[in-house]
Amino acid sequence: MKRVFELNEEQAYAYIDEKLKAYELEGGEFSDPALIRDYLRVLFHYLIKLRPPMEHNIDSVMKLMGASFKQKGYRTAFWAIIKEAGTNYPDDSIFYLGKTLEGRISNEDIEEVFNFMEHELMKEEDESERNRNLGLLTVCRIRFRKNRIGNIRMKRRAVKAEKPAEGGFRAQCRQFIKEYTPARIKAYLDRYVIGQDEAKEMLSLAVYNHYLRILNPKEKLIKQNMLMIGPTGCGKTELIRRLSELINLPVVITDFSGVVATPWKGRNKEEALYNLYVKAGRDAELTECGIVFCDEFDKVIPKRAYALGSDINDELQGQLLGMFEGTELEVPLQDGATSQEILMLDTSNMLFICAGAFEGLEKTVKKDMFGSSMGFGSEVKSDKDFEMTGKMLKTEHLIGFGMKPELAGRLSNVCVLKKLDKEMLKRVLTEPEDSILERYRTEFFIDDEVKLIFTDEALDEIIDKVDGMKIGARGINSVIHDILAEALFEVPSLPDINEVIVTAAAARKESKPEYR
Ligand code: ADP
Repeated sequence: MKRVFELNEEQAYAYIDEKLKAYELEGGEFSDPALIRDYLRVLFHYLIKLRPPMEHNIDSVMKLMGASFKQKGYRTAFWAIIKEAGTNYPDDSIFYLGKTLEGRISNEDIEEVFNFMEHELMKEEDESERNRNLGLLTVCRIRFRKNRIGNIRMKRRAVKAEKPAEGGFRAQCRQFIKEYTPARIKAYLDRYVIGQDEAKEMLSLAVYNHYLRILNPKEKLIKQNMLMIGPTGCGKTELIRRLSELINLPVVITDFSGVVATPWKGRNKEEALYNLYVKAGRDAELTECGIVFCDEFDKVIPKRAYALGSDINDELQGQLLGMFEGTELEVPLQDGATSQEILMLDTSNMLFICAGAFEGLEKTVKKDMFGSSMGFGSEVKSDKDFEMTGKMLKTEHLIGFGMKPELAGRLSNVCVLKKLDKEMLKRVLTEPEDSILERYRTEFFIDDEVKLIFTDEALDEIIDKVDGMKIGARGINSVIHDILAEALFEVPSLPDINEVIVTAAAARKESKPEYR
């Protein structure tokens, strides 16, 4: 018989299902079978996570549960298991209890577990043994109350990333830096992204510098983490997407809205690193040289002037600062087969690029520049023409927005992307290589056979519509798709069509596109 920790989760669940069926067949009584099953699953999850040497095998656990079920019902069985594991391994037990049962078991219940364990431990006759365990329990209790499940170190085996070696990707990096100067990186981005020169230049330089740091670890070059500020749909993500096609390092785009401080329940920053690891083909060394794009970064900031405090958001920003600057993080490998493994990743050589709309920040900067008389008399003109740039932004503005001072101080590489006006939107629609129009032309109409033509007036109608949506160029795709939906469906089955012409009326959806 395999011991609990030798089974993977799936095997354990299969086993328990089988045992439960047998138990039912034997006439065991369940007050609420679904609930018990759920409890047992959780319990097993918890037991499986306990590290060796755990003396139980599944049979002994089942025996224990079975006996308790018969006598008192599932709740007692539950406590019995907790007692077994808890008295032997209180430290780990509480950690995993917190981790695994959070959301299913209340804090009060966890306190009850402590009381229960204490009560059981008091029965121990050997005084030194009793005191040792009670001492351990007290430590757990204090830790748990203080941080809930925080701060208790995991004892699972960590897989340390290898020391950087002259691997294959370094040779590729050297090749890249031979071919690409910052100006050439920017020229590449120019092919796909309209405008946003400030961001392109800063990004090209940051990436170039990132390569230099990877190749010259002894030079202690300063890391150039970036902050991109710009409204929705102005090209922030598009820049990174295009960059990732050019470079040979892993890039991951992660939505940071809703990320909570580790180890609070929810999405944690480690998720981004795990995704980067997957992107890097599970090569830890390559992962440690990767680029993390933290999208919706403004959502991790509470949008009120930063106040030193105990608040959880302060904790999150502190943790993020640590990650950006460089620290070792324990990244749980979330995929089934290796779910018990932790990967130690050093973030010192990773490049972090944060981005967000930071709504309201512009107003603060404007106010700062024009003072309280803003909006009156001769000031109106300059106010109207106001266009924020990265250079205008001061650390104080970001702190005023709610950013932790240390974090604001470190994200000094700030650039501002502009809202796309109608003229820019039109260029986005038609100019870039592989533009949305181009994609429709090649993917849906197979260029040679059926030509897709937009009249100038139609393009203007489309741009008006997109502009009205107020989501920048993000609206383009849906507007075009809406106009072409019927044609995309019909044209392939109509013979002898050479051209599909989108007129202004078709763009307004008053008529179908013309077929010729
Ligand atoms: P955000 O700034 O919110 O990250 P995205 O970069 O994802 O917005 O833009 C959404 C889509 O709009 C992109 O997929 C791209 O097709 C288009 N787009 C936005 N801005 C530009 C731009 N400056 N140049 C070219 N395409 C753009």
